[in-house]
Amino acid sequence: MEVIRGIPVSSGIVFGRVFRLGKAEQRVSHRRIEATDVEKEIERVDSSFEEAISELELLRDRTRVQLGAEPAKIFEFHVGLLRDPSLRDPIRDRIRTDLVVAEWAVADQFRTIADQFAAMDSDVFTQKTADIMDLDRRVLDKLMGETTSRLANLTEPVIIVAHELTPSQTAGMDRKKVLGFATDAGGRTSHVSIVARAVDIPAVVGCRRVSRAVENGDFLIVDGDAGTVIIDPDEETISDYQARQSKVSEFREGLRETVGLESVTSDGETVTLLGNIEFPDEIDSVLANGGAGVGLYRTEFLYLTTGHAPDEQAHLDAYRQAIRMLDGRPLVIRTQDLGADKYTQEQAEEPERNPFLGCRSIRYSLQNLPEFKLQLRAILRAAADGPVKVMFPLVSTVMEIRQAKMILADVAEELDEDGIERGTDVRIGMMVEVPSAALMARAFSNEVEFFSIGTNDLIQYTLAVDRGNERVAGLYTGANPAVIQLIKSVIRVARRRDVDVSLCGEIAGEPIYTMLLLGLGLRTLSLVPSQIPLIKKVVRSVSITHCERIARKVGTFDSERQVLNYLRDELRKIDPGSPGGWTAE
Ligand code: PEP
Ligand code: MG
Repeated sequence: MEVIRGIPVSSGIVFGRVFRLGKAEQRVSHRRIEATDVEKEIERVDSSFEEAISELELLRDRTRVQLGAEPAKIFEFHVGLLRDPSLRDPIRDRIRTDLVVAEWAVADQFRTIADQFAAMDSDVFTQKTADIMDLDRRVLDKLMGETTSRLANLTEPVIIVAHELTPSQTAGMDRKKVLGFATDAGGRTSHVSIVARAVDIPAVVGCRRVSRAVENGDFLIVDGDAGTVIIDPDEETISDYQARQSKVSEFREGLRETVGLESVTSDGETVTLLGNIEFPDEIDSVLANGGAGVGLYRTEFLYLTTGHAPDEQAHLDAYRQAIRMLDGRPLVIRTQDLGADKYTQEQAEEPERNPFLGCRSIRYSLQNLPEFKLQLRAILRAAADGPVKVMFPLVSTVMEIRQAKMILADVAEELDEDGIERGTDVRIGMMVEVPSAALMARAFSNEVEFFSIGTNDLIQYTLAVDRGNERVAGLYTGANPAVIQLIKSVIRVARRRDVDVSLCGEIAGEPIYTMLLLGLGLRTLSLVPSQIPLIKKVVRSVSITHCERIARKVGTFDSERQVLNYLRDELRKIDPGSPGGWTAE
């Protein structure tokens, strides 16, 4: 039995067998196959070579057009190598005679050739070693990059273990087949973690070495509340966790009683609890958990699940579905937040060096106007059917919001000219998730009708801590006094300037922060639907006067430790009865 600690990101305890998802850079394991599988493995080799060749030919042609014939020769050389039977034949032979998986045979053959080149006493050949290793990665990527289809074709329930997952892989997981997952990389608010919570799959990320510690078929326990992964648990541990599992379900069941109750504090203040969604289907869960509407619809997931940019009709269908399901309740549609760890990096020919500081969100939209306008057209058209607000993400300068508004106005005008029906009362808001926007809230208050504070990004940009990097996860916390000061000042400006303000970062769903956020003046929170009952329970147990006292006290602390200890103690006093979990910091 081995216990690995990671970051708990999605609640629940699960037991099951490991299904490892590989990545080309990871260790290729020497797995043996049955003789009956030989032809299947050879076919996999052939199709991965063919796929790699087509990709290289495309690169060659593009390079020839953009840079000329000479640089294109490198890809010609790569294509030639992959077509050379003296490379592929030994791989096929290896599978036939040694009965090994395709990945192993490919990696081994490339290694042999690279060693031969490296041994030749010539610079030219030594350089070829890098070419060979590059090709090795490309072919292995094709072989092992079948992850999405492997995920789609699971035949029995498993626990996924991987070095890293993408948000789209997570979004595509079938809840019946994927019991839970554990990854080496990731943080509490990486988009993979957010999606895990949205689709309610227990998960632990940031385990650093879990993918190297397990083999396919190992028995695992994943505890998404405590953040532990237990490999090969003994009998006693299994029964201990079974007991915990039923306690968690009992606790969740008990919370159901709050669903029909009003979200109001003991001194009569209404606190509106909205849901964050990635797909319209999640609205079922928002409503079932007692949410009053949708405060954040992350529309970029339309791109992530299909792998390509949706057309206007696809946007429109999704928004109309959301409006229909909400039946008159509010819907905040956030325009595409592409870039960073989402979509564009996976597709990019040349990934950005610092994608979180790069061409992300509104910056991407403003650089890809046809795509942006198409989305805005769909939002305005859908708004004819129900109450829709539009929100722009990652705004960092006043010019950006002015430009975005101008484009929205253009789109409205075009629709009117074409006689296409559209909503005429679409309120415009922005995410406040970059320190520059928080600091300049007053200037922005002249531009928009509402602010939504996005702490997931505000924390990372204020503290210079990558939200998805497990190595600095200890520094990533909303309890940092600098972050709290920014939140406080945005709320103050919004109230003075009569701009609506809410908060939609993950801390909105973490009970430890609820009293602080109410005390700072927030009356609307948007959060992961499954947490709505728990947060409502906290809301109903506290008074605003008490929360304001708490916020004042927190304002006197200068370290996140003090803040967290204090908030934890205060939460314990009202005892919302959490079994402990990812929400407990
Ligand atoms: C945020 O940054 O707090 C937020 C809600 O947006 P996202 O998590 O999609 O970046
Ligand atoms: Mg954000």
